[in-house]
Parts: sequence; C-alpha cells; structure tokens
Amino acid sequence: MHRAPRWMRKAFSPDGTSRVVTGLIEGLGLETVCENARCPNLHECWSQRQLTFMILGDVCTRACQFCAVSHGRPAAVAPDEPWRVAEAVRRLGLDHAVITSVARDDLADEGADHFVRVVQAVRDRNPGVTVELLVPDFHADPNRIRHVLEEGRPEVFAHNVETVERLSPLLRPSASYARSLTTLRTASACETGSLIKSSLMVGLGETEEEVVQTIRDLRAVGVTHLTIGQYLRPSAAHLPVMEYVSPTRLARYGDLANAEGLQWVRAGVFVRSSYHAVDAVRPAEALPR
Ligand code: SF4
Repeated sequence: MHRAPRWMRKAFSPDGTSRVVTGLIEGLGLETVCENARCPNLHECWSQRQLTFMILGDVCTRACQFCAVSHGRPAAVAPDEPWRVAEAVRRLGLDHAVITSVARDDLADEGADHFVRVVQAVRDRNPGVTVELLVPDFHADPNRIRHVLEEGRPEVFAHNVETVERLSPLLRPSASYARSLTTLRTASACETGSLIKSSLMVGLGETEEEVVQTIRDLRAVGVTHLTIGQYLRPSAAHLPVMEYVSPTRLARYGDLANAEGLQWVRAGVFVRSSYHAVDAVRPAEALPR
C-alpha cells in the first residue's frame, strides 16, 4: 500500500485532562477500547473526557482481522466491574457513558446480563447520565437482545456491521453480515425507545455500490444512526488498508446515508463508532468539527 495521504495525518498530544483520564482508568483497573483498539483519536477524545469503556475483560473470543483487541481465552468476569465503571463515570463527571465489550462466546448469555448490571450501576451512581451500549451480536438471540434493551434501557443501542456483505467473512470470520442485521432488526423491533446505531469502515476494498447497499440494508432493519470512517491497520498482522478514501467521498457517503433516511450520520476520515458519541443524544453538546 502506498503512503498515507496528507489528510491522514493527525497530531494530538496528551494534555493534562487526558493524563487524568489515564490515571483514573489505570487506578480503577478498567479497560477502554480507545487503548485496546489503538484508536487514533485517543488524545483528542480523552482531552474532552470522552472515552469508551470496554467491559468483560480485555481478551476477545473472536479474532476479527481488523481489530487490535487481544483474542484467546478470557478470564472470569469481574463481579465488581459494574461498580468500577460507575465510579469512573462519577469521578470523571461524565453525563454520557459509552460502554462496549469484547465478544464473550464462552459465557452462557454472552455477557448480556453483565451489560445490564453495568448500566444499572452507572445509573445508580450517576443520576441523569445517558448511556450508549455497543454490543456484540449475541448470536442474534432475541432473549439476550431484549434483556439488554428492556433491563438496561440504554439511550443508544449500537452494534457494528463493520463492513459490506462481501468482505464480512474476511474481516469477521466468527461473525456474519446477515446475523448482525438480524441483531439490529431485533433490537429495533423491541421498540424500547433506544436509538439504533451501527458503524461501517471503508478503505478495505469495498465499492461505492456496496457501501450504498449496506446503508440501505441498515436502514431496512431499523438503524437510525450511522458512523462511517476510514479503516486503519493496527499492525502488520492485520488486514492492509486497500484504499485511503478521500474526505470528499466520505462526505458523499454521509450525504447518501442521509438521503436514504438515516436520522443521524457522521462520516469522516477519523470517525469511529464512538467518536463524539454524545452528539447523538445531546446535539447541543456537539464538539466543533
Ligand atoms: S473515537 Fe471512540 S474509541 Fe476512539 S478514542 Fe474516541 S471514544 Fe475512544
């Protein structure tokens, strides 16, 4: 792959606030996807006290070919993790908590009830907080999905389709495009009032037609909120970048998604699933971009 173009350069150094976040996360023994996935936005987001907690450990039972999170056999679930996440939200003064997890196919409920316990602890300790949950596919099990939605009541229920249908077996060998759509359709059908969100990476060899079809597929299963961003290779062991998609084309994808009827779309080079996530529930707090 050729060198990254100029628009891919992002310089943002740690400031005092991001150092505070680092110390607090380490002190409470928590994991973030910001660190584990080597997100390029880490210092920018953390300087704004925006982060994404990663629960259920730091080892994933799946081995997606784009993801930097470790995979293998996870440790037992920490029963005090809900309290620690809630305490971090309180100490950081967050009014919007974004929480994801590794996939836990080894657990009987794939971690669904742990998500609920984390949300409940966060709400108990932080009245008025809003929550976005970015969940694994739960094998599209309606009981697990309904449990998270009805007992957790997240303002945003997110599950990422990640890529177009043709590339899904390559990127996500333990998942499937169709199953992710079923998970999202099931969540939407629960009608609990949660916003239904997904995310798509580009630059992996997909065509523009495939991107448009994916947007239509997501819309058809009830997705209302969508992020689209450039894939970046976390290491030489991961899938290479096939293309650096220009900011102009990313903006066009965003316009196309809006034209297809999605309510809220963010498309840009460094846009990630959780980038400026608060913007989805409190647009007035949106950061300048
Ligand atoms: S975009 Fe999401 S994962 Fe990346 S640093 Fe920001 S909050 Fe963390």
